[in-house]
Amino acid sequence: SLTFDGVGKTFGENVVAIANVSFKIDDGEFVVLVGPSGCGKSTLLRIAAGLEELSGGRLLMDEADVTARGPEDRDIAMVFQNYALYPHMSVYENMAFGLRQRKMPKAEIDRLVREAAEMLDLSRYLDRKPGALSGGQRQRVAMGRAIVRHPACFLMDEPLSNLDAKLRVQMRSELKLLNQRLGVTTLYVTHDQVEAMTMGDRVAVLQPIGHAGESNLQQIDTPQVLYDRPATMFVAG
Ligand code: ATP
Ligand code: MG
Repeated sequence: SLTFDGVGKTFGENVVAIANVSFKIDDGEFVVLVGPSGCGKSTLLRIAAGLEELSGGRLLMDEADVTARGPEDRDIAMVFQNYALYPHMSVYENMAFGLRQRKMPKAEIDRLVREAAEMLDLSRYLDRKPGALSGGQRQRVAMGRAIVRHPACFLMDEPLSNLDAKLRVQMRSELKLLNQRLGVTTLYVTHDQVEAMTMGDRVAVLQPIGHAGESNLQQIDTPQVLYDRPATMFVAG
């Protein structure tokens, strides 16, 4: 599980990006973060990844306080929107890179990369360079880099936004299946309402901080409840 406990983040003297955010993502649960540009979605993800220091509150993984731990000491993998692959490396090397840095034995790396490639239907492309792949295949390689590590938690920031509409729909169900198959606790950011409602076990709706004492978190509920009983006009829109 992943727990945000009264989390806050202030940039500089007075840019309050995140305030009073508390919610828990259960083991294997898929939570989608939505909300207008600038409401703090990416910041919240970066906080979970350990890429931003907190100004207040705590972050727990499986009930253990990881607030002070660096990104390398959290059992987490992140997939970004502009999933920069290494253009001069093969698909295999792109997927193996993070494991090599961890000084894992070669045979173990090979097993993990081939297993992930199989899962993502990339086995035939392991020798290719990213430049010779389609957009969807490149996106799968980015996912592969995260999957090979078998993390307890996936953090994804608009991973499908660079894909065309058809591929995006296909990748939605593939991602969702993968999450169910691996049982990975997932926090997923999107601008896309349909994506949020079809992929999320629950959807968390964020708002920018307007006044002191506010929280970014407006509502967190199942898609059905959000649809039937939106807490605010923004959620309804
Ligand atoms: P988008 O949908 O456009 O990606 P977002 O919801 O991901 O937006 P964030 O990137 O989390 O929004 O930004 C939240 C707020 O924090 C914004 O007001 C932004 O300007 C501010 N912010 C983010 N990073 C920094 C930074 N490094 N320094 C100062 N302010 C920042
Ligand atoms: Mg963002």
